[in-house]
Amino acid sequence: MHAKDGAREALTRWREQLIALSHRIHAHPEIAFEEERSARWTADVLAEAGFAVEMGICDLPTAFVARTGSGPLHIAICAEYDSLPAIGHACGHNVIAAMAVGAAIAAARVADDVGLRLSVIGTPAEEVCDAGGKILLLERGGFADVHAAMMVHPGPVDVVEPRIIAATMFDVHYTGKEAHASAFPELGINAADALTVAQTAIGLLRQHFRATDRVHGFVTKGGDAANVVPAHTSARYMVRSATLGHLEEIRTKVNRCFEAGALATGSQLAIVGGTKPYAEMVHDHEIAAVYRRNAEAVGREIPQLGPFADRFPASTDMGNISLALPSIHPMIGIASLPAVNHQPEFAAHCAMEAADRAVFDGSLAMAWTAIDLAADAALSDRLTGR
Ligand SMILES: [Zn+2]
Ligand SMILES: [Zn+2]
Repeated sequence: MHAKDGAREALTRWREQLIALSHRIHAHPEIAFEEERSARWTADVLAEAGFAVEMGICDLPTAFVARTGSGPLHIAICAEYDSLPAIGHACGHNVIAAMAVGAAIAAARVADDVGLRLSVIGTPAEEVCDAGGKILLLERGGFADVHAAMMVHPGPVDVVEPRIIAATMFDVHYTGKEAHASAFPELGINAADALTVAQTAIGLLRQHFRATDRVHGFVTKGGDAANVVPAHTSARYMVRSATLGHLEEIRTKVNRCFEAGALATGSQLAIVGGTKPYAEMVHDHEIAAVYRRNAEAVGREIPQLGPFADRFPASTDMGNISLALPSIHPMIGIASLPAVNHQPEFAAHCAMEAADRAVFDGSLAMAWTAIDLAADAALSDRLTGR
């Protein structure tokens, strides 16, 4: 039997279990680094399929690796499973986890015949945007002997090489001084005003942004009582730009806006986090071309978005992986429009029929991609560094 037919046959046999896994994770959303059940459920299916599973790798309790195959080409498939706070699986990471498992089970069927070694790496905490799971795994050797990494992410439509830009997330804290807001206002130092000044300065800074620069955030603490001058305020902010280099530039300017708030009010400023930013994604064009061919072969329609695709850049810690080793991060459509990622309406779509179809299609397209990489001597030599 042809290797790709064997992979499809294995996947078809596991189809219902994969969709059940996707729905189970979807129904029990767990946020960053708290994905205990989601990681366990994902790993359990792989263990049942004969993979050697190790939970809690690299000192991350909700990370895991599941291994099979002994071929010369070692491919890692990343499984995300964290949800967003408050709006559940509005980024569809339940679909990512199920596709990673499906792709690995399908490819495992023929791994030794075609010369593949497969690792599903359970990568927690993608949505935090600072020191994400993949960054910590990368630092701690979780991808040490991997030749290429892949994952597929759900979105409104299929995009093989989505625009993925650098990003950082951090918390800002101002400390002022309480005072009676009416009787003794001259004794107060207003930490809420500091945030207002900073937000105004950031608003003015936007005139000087590049098209791909982004700043967004929200006040996490604005005060305690209207008749007390706020002495403790905080906000959570993200800054994004096309590359880590541009990010550093824009981050410096945004920091000055926060310093302006402190200077104007006499508050103390403390910035926490933002030390391990997400990198831009450098897609491996050759692997991406192999994925495109296989996605089309399994029946995916990939629209030609042209320059419009650059209009909706997102960020992921897969970018950091892509700077370390050849990687791809295609999007798979779940027919959600007008709903898009990070909307509650998108969360609902992530357990509907089109998302279930994506679980199967994305699994098969990745499995076939892995098989093609192993079969292409020139490409697999490049990946293994021979
Ligand atoms: Zn996501
Ligand atoms: Zn997301």
